[in-house]
Amino acid sequence: MIRITEDHQDIQEMVADFSDHELAPLAEQLDEEQGFPTANLTKLAELGMLGVTAPEAYGGTGADSLTAVLMIEELARNCGSTALVVSAHVFDAIRALTVLGNDEQKAKWLPGLATGETIGTFAIAEASAESDAGALATRAVKAGDGWSLTGEKTAIVSGQHAGFAAVVARTTGEPGSTSDLGLFAVSGGASATGVTATPDEAPLGTRGTGLADWTFENAALDGNALLGTEDGFRSIAPVLEASRLGIAAVALGVGRGAITYALGYAAERKAFGRSIDRFGAIRSMVAEAATALEAARLLVYRAANLLDDGKSVPRETSMAKLAASRAAYTATKSAVQILGGNGYSREYPVERMFRDAGSLEIHGGSDALHRMLVARALIGESR
Ligand SMILES: Cc1cc2nc3c(=O)[nH]c(=O)nc-3n(C[C@H](O)[C@H](O)[C@H](O)COP(=O)(O)OP(=O)(O)OC[C@H]3O[C@@H](n4cnc5c(N)ncnc54)[C@H](O)[C@@H]3O)c2cc1C
Repeated sequence: MIRITEDHQDIQEMVADFSDHELAPLAEQLDEEQGFPTANLTKLAELGMLGVTAPEAYGGTGADSLTAVLMIEELARNCGSTALVVSAHVFDAIRALTVLGNDEQKAKWLPGLATGETIGTFAIAEASAESDAGALATRAVKAGDGWSLTGEKTAIVSGQHAGFAAVVARTTGEPGSTSDLGLFAVSGGASATGVTATPDEAPLGTRGTGLADWTFENAALDGNALLGTEDGFRSIAPVLEASRLGIAAVALGVGRGAITYALGYAAERKAFGRSIDRFGAIRSMVAEAATALEAARLLVYRAANLLDDGKSVPRETSMAKLAASRAAYTATKSAVQILGGNGYSREYPVERMFRDAGSLEIHGGSDALHRMLVARALIGESR
């Protein structure tokens, strides 16, 4: 069962209004210039939205994951890039601290993240390995009272601007195992000493996220940088699950935004003397896309409720991510088709939404990876 309260609906309406009035006018420029949504983030911070998943004791609003999902979905209807940056902040960085952090770590990093003074992110992928976590090579070794981090991470959302990152690194073993992976707080993020951030050249979609690769050269981390335990993948799982849920919420919003736009266009556009929304072919595309999005939405909302119940939800979050990113791809592709030649033009937003949906099928684990994870869960195989 999915629990949506009046509070959820109030926040959803408030963010929907914000998204339509504040994000929509800037989305095209953000994409075109491959910028970073600093102005949008400042306004979201003023509304308390960047601390939505942080406990009240640390300056957040202590809302549940479904609230964050609804918020991200509404942002993504108009701007996939802003939504993805917010998702990495509230679902990856803040969640890493709330779920795995001790009191000292929470007190040190959560207040800045909750107010939006610091933007947070998560880094696991490496150029040589993402789908295969056993191949990750970034290493954290004890150095004096702290840790020293060496290696590289690729395609990090907010990677040019983040002031905090939760970074996956191995501690003792060699690549090949996942049993010594840990999650490390990198205070300072892109501008920490020993971290070099290199902006990604011209990504295809979600271009306004300040995507960057990071290199760590003996980056000195606090003695208290390890979030949770060096207990391999198990210790990281709650963050990966939340991260996938956030990306799924972005996909829902991007898909909805595209279909809504296409419906408005189809009502106006005339062919053979009628508006094109009179044609069965157009109606069929819209109906298929809306049904797939609605089915995905149920999976996403249910996974959010389960996550809040403290459950381990690898299968549910993989299903939600898979369904939502597929649905977004279908919806945005249909929207391009419905706009005909105009759908292929940068003058209309569905072209951007189509590119954004493409990136969401890869980020957070490709479709193939999630199919594999769902199948493993069904068969009962462990990693
Ligand atoms: C827009 C964007 C933002 C991103 N942001 C972040 C971020 O903030 N932080 C971060 O850490 N990473 C980020 N990433 C990286 C992203 O998570 C990885 O690119 C993604 O998980 C895929 O990993 P890979 O690129 O190494 O692909 P690979 O693992 O090399 O996979 C390549 C292809 O092989 C297929 N494949 C791999 N293994 C199997 C298998 N066992 N069976 C069948 N097929 C398989 C995959 O499905 C894929 O089609 C981002 C990526 C994008 C595109």
